[in-house]
Amino acid sequence: MAGSQTAVALRDQGFTGSLTLIGAEPHQPYDRPPLSKAVLLGNAEGSALDVDFEAIDVELHLGREVSGLRPDAHELDTEAGPVPYDTLVVATGAEPLTLPGTEGVKGVHLLRTLDDARRLRPVLERKHDIVVVGAGWIGAEFATAARQAGCAVTVVEAADRPLAGVLPAEVTAPMAGWYTESGASLITGARVAAVEPGAVVLAESAGVETGVGTGPGARAGAGAGGAGGRRLNADAVVVGVGARPATRWLAGSGIALGPDGSITADERLRTTLPDVHAVGDCASFPSRRYGRRLLVHHWDNALQGPRTVAANVLRDLRGEPPLSYDPVPYFWSEQFGRFVQYAGHHEGAGTLVWRGDPAVGSGWSVLWLRTADDGRHVLAAVLAVGRPRDVTQGRRLIEAGARLDPARAADPGVPLKAAVE
Ligand SMILES: Cc1cc2nc3c(=O)[nH]c(=O)nc-3n(C[C@H](O)[C@H](O)[C@H](O)COP(=O)(O)OP(=O)(O)OC[C@H]3O[C@@H](n4cnc5c(N)ncnc54)[C@H](O)[C@@H]3O)c2cc1C
Repeated sequence: MAGSQTAVALRDQGFTGSLTLIGAEPHQPYDRPPLSKAVLLGNAEGSALDVDFEAIDVELHLGREVSGLRPDAHELDTEAGPVPYDTLVVATGAEPLTLPGTEGVKGVHLLRTLDDARRLRPVLERKHDIVVVGAGWIGAEFATAARQAGCAVTVVEAADRPLAGVLPAEVTAPMAGWYTESGASLITGARVAAVEPGAVVLAESAGVETGVGTGPGARAGAGAGGAGGRRLNADAVVVGVGARPATRWLAGSGIALGPDGSITADERLRTTLPDVHAVGDCASFPSRRYGRRLLVHHWDNALQGPRTVAANVLRDLRGEPPLSYDPVPYFWSEQFGRFVQYAGHHEGAGTLVWRGDPAVGSGWSVLWLRTADDGRHVLAAVLAVGRPRDVTQGRRLIEAGARLDPARAADPGVPLKAAVE
């Protein structure tokens, strides 16, 4: 996504030099969000980007993995020989984390690529008993599709709740119920000890089943209470325990990486090497807006970042001052019949405001407010479930640094933009 968008943006912005796009996957560049939705369910064959690379004079090298970067020679190493560059944009994305000991085990799946989604499609069609490991974004979306396809689904999560790494407990509390409402079982506080043929064995620690759905976990007979040591029937196991930047191939190149494996780009999305930029899931950047370095693994960042990279490549060539990249992060997720959206970054924002009640009605939102130096409340982030206007307006208000009246903002009947002080 970010590599293709960089090529498109360079041409859109007037770059006339030669452009080469190299990717390890054999497929025409494609969008990943449909992989856990329409493509998985067989409602779409693929999700190729609507870009005519030939028409914009981009040389595509598909199915070609890059194994190294030699900055002194201004060359990349690939199986098919070295590739020289004047300017390089690294957009190698992220790779899913695996469960130790399960790599290559039959019946254990990841969901990152088109090939992964195509391998999982028949699993759904056969209405298998499926154990999903990880109640994050991917786990929730996969569980949604698998339930829709009629599979028995149990989701095993090591933390005490879904999305524990990204959202506070009070916000995720209503989300746990979505799993069981869909007919899946959710077992929290449980770790996988082993994957055996046809089964997932949980570690002896006491897991908690927050509800009993139709999943293989439910059929294994345990209701609420300890889940340690249990065996869950599993014709297939889908691992969704996170992803890390795909940057291992840069070892020895001299490019600086953070502890999370991300390329630590600067505010212009340049790396520590001359003439090398980085964008998308593989790169973190310092956010002036949020006063911290952000690593964003979402689609919108792979669309917006390339526009800044392309502008800066051209500005470098013209000797013009560069642009800074300081987006309001945005993403969406479709899970359990709900449209979940988030804009901003809530870390460090002290005040939580609810708009609407998850127990009543069709939609609700949560706002995170930060106290500004003048003592007033600034919107830092918004999460909306079925309230897209809150996110559209919220994103603009965050961009503008708008001050909100918390009492008015808490009234779901008041448009968010009307809560500005
Ligand atoms: C199943 C799924 C569903 C998603 N759904 C949503 C959603 O609903 N909303 C949302 O906001 N975001 C979603 N995302 C996240 C979003 O798709 C990513 O943030 C986005 O794809 C990042 O783009 P990227 O170009 O940085 O990385 P990628 O799209 O991963 O592209 C990187 C490419 O680089 C290639 N590559 C890696 N290493 C090498 C190498 N050494 N040599 C050559 N090529 C290499 C990879 O093969 C890959 O094709 C989803 C992601 C997945 C996996």
